[in-house]
Amino acid sequence: MVADLGVLASRHQAFCQALPRVSPFYAVKCNSSPLVLRVLAALGTGFDCASQPVSHLQYAARHGVQLLTFDSEEELTKVAQHHPGARLVLRLWTEDSQSLIPMSAKFGARLELCGHLLKSARDLGLAVVGTSFHVGSGCQNPHSFAQAIADCRRVFEMGRGVGHDMSLLDIGGGFPGVEGSELEFEEV
Ligand SMILES: *Cc1c(COP(=O)(O)O)cnc(C)c1O
Repeated sequence: MVADLGVLASRHQAFCQALPRVSPFYAVKCNSSPLVLRVLAALGTGFDCASQPVSHLQYAARHGVQLLTFDSEEELTKVAQHHPGARLVLRLWTEDSQSLIPMSAKFGARLELCGHLLKSARDLGLAVVGTSFHVGSGCQNPHSFAQAIADCRRVFEMGRGVGHDMSLLDIGGGFPGVEGSELEFEEV
């Protein structure tokens, strides 16, 4: 792959200008080339990585990676056992049928399940600090963000209601990244 790393820096700048209260965390699965990661690290971004087996959780715990996402009871059980000091973010299901690459078939808890998951986390002694969602890659409908954020707001209230200190809202991805795409990044 041939890439202009200067474009990476200018997209980073555009992102920070349009969303000054949002800290970008780069999804490493998009392109994990060491040079891309090094440039983004130098710009001060965080990173979002998928974990597969339990050994990845243990690695995160050993290296001080505290923020973890969950969307099911099974994951809570695993985290309680292998990374009890984690700060958890509850991933919500979102309507993403209009996205080019939907993700909600695979990830995200339905709103009706969130109350139960928040209580389970508390009963296991785990701290939930916020919510996340992903509207699907190549999101064609900016209103999906508004709907997802409204759902997150409700889950913040549920979380606070059972004693979690909710403060982190992860707005996922799905932003248009290509100059001249149908929908502009700034519009979203
Ligand atoms: C892939 C992914 C992203 C980035 O999604 P884009 O559509 O490439 O912007 C963000 N968050 C999570 C959890 C992801 O899996």
